[in-house]
Amino acid sequence: MTTRNAERNSPGPTVRIAGPAETHCPYCALQCGMTVSTPEDGPQVTGRDFPTNRGGLCRKGFTSATLLNHRGRLTSPLVRNPGSGELEPCDWESAVARIASGMRAVQAFHGADAMGVFGGGGLTNEKAYLLGKFARVALRTRSIDYNGRFCMSSAATASNRAFGLDRGLPFPLEDIGQADLVLLVGANPAETMPPMMRVFSDLRRRGGRLIVVDPRRTATAQSAQLHLAPAPGSDLALANGILHLLVRERMIDREYIARRTTGFGAVLQTVAGYWPDRVERITGVPEESLRTAASWLGTAERVVVLTARGAEQHATGTETVHGFINIALALGQVGSPGGGYGCITGQGNGQGGREHGQKSDQLPGYRRIDDPEARAHVAGIWGVDPDTIPGPGPSAYELLSSMGTAGGVRGLLVMGSNVVVSAPRSSHVAERLAALDLLVVCDPFLSETAEMADVVLPTAQWAEEDGTMTNLEGRVIRRRAATPPPDGVRTDLDVIHLLADALGRGRHFFSRTPELAFNELRRASRGGIADYSGITYDRIDAEDGVFWPCPGRGHPGTPRLFTDRFPTADGRARFFATEHRGPREQPDAEFPLHLTTGRIMSHYQSGTQTRRVSELAESVPEPFVDLHPGLARRYGISDGDLVRIRSRRGEAFARARLDQAIRLDTVFFPFHWGGDRRANLLTNPVLDPHSRMPEFKACAVSISRQPEVEGAPT
Ligand code: SF4
Repeated sequence: MTTRNAERNSPGPTVRIAGPAETHCPYCALQCGMTVSTPEDGPQVTGRDFPTNRGGLCRKGFTSATLLNHRGRLTSPLVRNPGSGELEPCDWESAVARIASGMRAVQAFHGADAMGVFGGGGLTNEKAYLLGKFARVALRTRSIDYNGRFCMSSAATASNRAFGLDRGLPFPLEDIGQADLVLLVGANPAETMPPMMRVFSDLRRRGGRLIVVDPRRTATAQSAQLHLAPAPGSDLALANGILHLLVRERMIDREYIARRTTGFGAVLQTVAGYWPDRVERITGVPEESLRTAASWLGTAERVVVLTARGAEQHATGTETVHGFINIALALGQVGSPGGGYGCITGQGNGQGGREHGQKSDQLPGYRRIDDPEARAHVAGIWGVDPDTIPGPGPSAYELLSSMGTAGGVRGLLVMGSNVVVSAPRSSHVAERLAALDLLVVCDPFLSETAEMADVVLPTAQWAEEDGTMTNLEGRVIRRRAATPPPDGVRTDLDVIHLLADALGRGRHFFSRTPELAFNELRRASRGGIADYSGITYDRIDAEDGVFWPCPGRGHPGTPRLFTDRFPTADGRARFFATEHRGPREQPDAEFPLHLTTGRIMSHYQSGTQTRRVSELAESVPEPFVDLHPGLARRYGISDGDLVRIRSRRGEAFARARLDQAIRLDTVFFPFHWGGDRRANLLTNPVLDPHSRMPEFKACAVSISRQPEVEGAPT
């Protein structure tokens, strides 16, 4: 039996009995409502009625309680023994002292910015806020970023540029079901967020249509009235081609464009070059399908355009999102009832996590760290001189890539992330982690990143702590503790306070409970773009969530944005003219295929949690690579064969799964596994120049059948 199987099947820490708690799922941004109870025979979850899930949960949500008393949970800090090289249990006091002395040594030898902090899009708002403050006030380092840079940053950047504000969905999820047409680009909610499919059922019931853009004929695409399957990285050409037809057929809203936007002239000139047969050549989408899409978009009264990682995780991700925002603006839909543009946020707190300061260029309230007024306001809340707050730091991949180098980060505190699996070109990231003087990882489990750490701190899980999350709609919701953490485990907030105290900066960390931390966050966000100042725990309880901005206790919150004006200097939205450039790596003789990566129903992100849940692990125990049967035939590969996949960054192995639903020139490899099954061993870390988002979704690879001989990868 492997260690992981032993972990899955043995009893873990005892969960203390407490009353049922109405909370939300630990995983994705849909943040389905659930009730967690802790009867004597083990913790349980049931779905509860909440607007995003209406009582439904996917299999990840249903099985999430098994993580609470999982055998593999860490219940004691671990410190690496320099003699044996092994991680060994130790007490909290010694572990914290070891971390504080290590942090001091790194900063004394290499400067303040050499101590880095890496957060996550799953952290509560309170943690994201205090982690950002910890970096700027306790460590005085500019080197902080988080894994949300790998998820939503291109859509966030494009929305900020176009609308003056980034909130994933600027309307409640239910509005999608009230549209007449939805254009869904690069998302597969049937697998990744199954309860969300109800809004598409609502749409269909009302006679509305769904168009899905995806190189694979996914379960979501199969449910659509029209599926467009462009080559990976060609979505922007598709968007420009659709807008070309909308203009040509006079199906745009000129009155709205004149009244509410600027910059359309340059877009007109650009899209003039995207005539249908050219777009067909670039994307592989037949002209006829393109014309159908444009005609449906141009004649529907209420249109919602949605993008997700398939469109966004490219070196041209920001520009691609602009291409789709341009369509929504040209149709006069943004800010109109039942229409608009939205990004489907991925991580549980992907929205709140990008608003309150764990991003390298940001202060709480979605403020810019280089804005003198913002610095003065936040410094006043923190009780520090504004001049002591560091400036912007490197983005996530740049930070990771600098580790252990001269002038780079020499120590790293990781909270809520497993970068060994989730970062692009992950073998390089693992090498850089190994070169650090100090690596500290806070995690409930010994993740692949924690395995490399000098100190591991065992931290609480979602049902063991209070806090707030901001879901994909911008609705701020409560996470409520159903049970205290097991003995030996502390919350991430406790860890921040312990470390701040040990570094002699504890007096600045005065908000010692989640609610106090939230109240401090509210003050820090006051007057910012993401203004939470009117949101309280009591209000969230009473109203089942409050939409930001909410700039005062008497303010009702803002479910729908942009109805009258955009929060830009002139109140207008901006068009951006963008040209198709395609993925940085195109298939060639050595690497003749496109690789695209993504999520599957049974697993979540780096798999630290879901690979430890028996039911999920058994349903998909190892990664697969989706190949079209015609492609597989060409390479002599049969269903179930082990396949070696190579790119310019390395090689990885997965079982072949033959599937007619994928293009002949593309393979799909989910990214939830570690070791030599890591899709991110292959991915290209080239960055979008605007968002610093890596190009996870497209690189060039070769494939071959891997003989199953002794000693070969298994
Ligand atoms: Fe959890 Fe997302 Fe599944 Fe809902 S859809 S149960 S939030 S993983």
